[in-house]
Amino acid sequence: MILLDEEARLVIRSEGERAYPNECCGFLIGRFGEAGARVVTEARPVRNSREKEERYHRFVIEAEEFMRAEAYARKMGLELLGFYHSHPDHPAEPSGYDEENALPFYSYVIVAVEGGAAKNLTSWELSADRAGFVNEPIGAIPAAFWNANIINIDKEDI
Ligand SMILES: [Zn+2]
Repeated sequence: MILLDEEARLVIRSEGERAYPNECCGFLIGRFGEAGARVVTEARPVRNSREKEERYHRFVIEAEEFMRAEAYARKMGLELLGFYHSHPDHPAEPSGYDEENALPFYSYVIVAVEGGAAKNLTSWELSADRAGFVNEPIGAIPAAFWNANIINIDKEDI
């Protein structure tokens, strides 16, 4: 289960539209909530470092950016919980490439962008045997989570 903050959803959708016809990508940052749910309080865009002519259907995040995101999350008392990317003019379903490059533990959120407009949002995680992706239900963050968790919402650039 992944719980997405409303603003985080907005960032994912607008980044997908902005990057169209290329793929956008970014980090999902937050912490674990009840029953191990990943509670994403921030979606943090990052540059798609794939070579220009491949960006319409592939994304890659540089190792350095990955480390920066982890450092940022730690500094905020949060964790790197996963990644998002867009599928320009393709359904919000993982490609073979997505599956092959997935890491255990993380959530992979995909937003379909049709003709420049963000549509379906889905989330995926590797199955326990790591054989492939399984769909992960997406929910909203309950108010009780915010009441119980003090999170610095002043997002910083580092
Ligand atoms: Zn993909």
